Amino acid sequence: MQVNEASWRELLRGKYQGHIGFNAPMRDFTVLGIGGPADIFMTPDDPLSLRNLLALLKEKKVPSMALGKGSNILVRDGGIEGVVISMNAFGRIEVLKESDDHAELFVEAGVPLQRLVNFCRERGYSGIEGLAGIPGTVGGALFGNAGSYGSEIKDVVASVAIMDADGRLDRYKAEGLGFRYRGSDILPTDIILSANLRFLKDEKDRVSERTERFMKEKIQSQPISERSAGCVFKNPEGQSAGRLIDEAGLKGMRAGAIEVSRVHANFFVNNGGGTASDYLDLMGRVAAIIEKKSGLTLQPEIRVLGRP
Ligand SMILES: Cc1cc2nc3c(=O)[nH]c(=O)nc-3n(C[C@H](O)[C@H](O)[C@H](O)COP(=O)(O)OP(=O)(O)OC[C@H]3O[C@@H](n4cnc5c(N)ncnc54)[C@H](O)[C@@H]3O)c2cc1C
Repeated sequence: MQVNEASWRELLRGKYQGHIGFNAPMRDFTVLGIGGPADIFMTPDDPLSLRNLLALLKEKKVPSMALGKGSNILVRDGGIEGVVISMNAFGRIEVLKESDDHAELFVEAGVPLQRLVNFCRERGYSGIEGLAGIPGTVGGALFGNAGSYGSEIKDVVASVAIMDADGRLDRYKAEGLGFRYRGSDILPTDIILSANLRFLKDEKDRVSERTERFMKEKIQSQPISERSAGCVFKNPEGQSAGRLIDEAGLKGMRAGAIEVSRVHANFFVNNGGGTASDYLDLMGRVAAIIEKKSGLTLQPEIRVLGRP
């Protein structure tokens, strides 16, 4: 896409508040630290700016996608066509209702999931202790129904506010959003603005103890301080992708700077300077070996985006 910075700014003058960047390297916006440039990178400050931006994108037929913290995506080396919309400026948490046994929160999409986990832990709101240690935002967690240790974000969702590509804002009940294992019916062109989440109340110490226990387990079993995108493959029915890769002896297998983690075989880590093509090469080789050994076809859990 040919981007004329001056005319793009001019088209949005008076209609948009927030950051606008051009030719933005996606390696700076992903946990993996990989990815070519997005043509345009925008961080709207408010829903009206977002709506006006979407109207312009529709009129100019420019593709777009929402971004949280980039902890579940692999951006190809050719970068991203069109506009990446970061929701990081949407960062409010509000208590809507609280009774002796329940609490309901309004949480915006850009809130880091761990800020929410800590907010709940400090107040004794129970339901997402198992999500302790999962990086990313609430928006990203809702899009992919993030989960761990038997909990999923869907367990606490009452409703989600979504703006579609036409700029229409609607609130959807959880039951209508098709939440499933690491997925939902939310469209790649939809933008999640916020969610109303419902929690059970419990003793603060008990919520805190469970949150810490899950966090410790995560630190021990996953390479959380290294550059990765979380689990590469979904678990096949009744199986663990990590165990299959480990049992095939593939820990430490490499393509360039990308390596099958020695801590958890379903994480591929970037040891520095890795490329998307190396990452995809390693994914393909690992999946082919597992298919040959077990007959199972591994499906990606990470989302692969962008121009080849
Ligand atoms: C070390 C590590 C451990 C992890 N452990 C787990 C785990 O235990 N369980 C688990 O489920 N995941 C895990 N992950 C993966 C990842 O953290 C989660 O999937 C997380 O919820 C992604 O959030 P994000 O904000 O980073 O989303 P991004 O990676 O930015 O985006 C992911 C997808 O969500 C979409 N999206 C993001 N925000 C919005 C929005 N506001 N509106 C519409 N669409 C949006 C994007 O377009 C993209 O398709 C792990 C990742 C790492 C690096």
